[in-house]
Amino acid sequence: MKKYIVMMGPPGGGKGTQARRLNERLGVPIFSTGKIFRSFVKAQTPIGKELAPILEKGGLVPDQLAIDSIREKMHQGLTDAGFILDGFPRTLPQAMAFDRILEGAGLKLDIVIDIQVPDSYIIERTIGRFYCHTCEAEYNETLHKTKVMGVCDVCGGTHFDRRSDDNMETVKKRLQEYRAQTMPVLPYYESRGLLATVDGTGSIEAVARQIEESIQLKVKSRGE
Ligand code: AMP
Repeated sequence: MKKYIVMMGPPGGGKGTQARRLNERLGVPIFSTGKIFRSFVKAQTPIGKELAPILEKGGLVPDQLAIDSIREKMHQGLTDAGFILDGFPRTLPQAMAFDRILEGAGLKLDIVIDIQVPDSYIIERTIGRFYCHTCEAEYNETLHKTKVMGVCDVCGGTHFDRRSDDNMETVKKRLQEYRAQTMPVLPYYESRGLLATVDGTGSIEAVARQIEESIQLKVKSRGE
């Protein structure tokens, strides 16, 4: 099913996890600007070297770079089957530029999902987070352990990674940026009837159910 979906919410709020769930359900590709930027840093490209200290400190990369990253994916035709955006847009200028890009491509967003999670959950969720090195399945030391210790439930991999920005100091900065820069994007989408707010404090299943219901409601309200 072709859908144009934006996932929003604080760091560690479950955007990535729920984006993957939706991807499995709908078969729509995910684009994560955070992942794109981390790959630049890992590959030590010239841009990656500039971005490394920004990501390390939990700041936001310049708007133009975030906008260009998504524009490039669209130009390459990678979003023709729809998209689930994880981590973009993160500022009002990004949201406005994105509107122009969508308009130029003759596309319209279906829904912007805001996963709401109070600050008290964020620290536990981010600090305890780890990933399978092979398939990138996400786990948490206390909230979502692997079924067999040290073995990925999904692919059986035994090598796990952590994000270097999932530490207390950086998470606090990321939360500050979220409040100052990203939260103002929510009313922008709300005023256009695109925003669906879900309670992100429940289990992965419970949050996924709310998201699916929100998508169905939006589709129904448009008479599709
Ligand atoms: P995420 O994986 O979404 O948590 O993003 C990790 C980091 O990448 C953020 O803390 C920012 O430094 C950067 N980043 C990701 N997406 C954006 C964006 N749309 N605009 C600016 N910075 C971003």
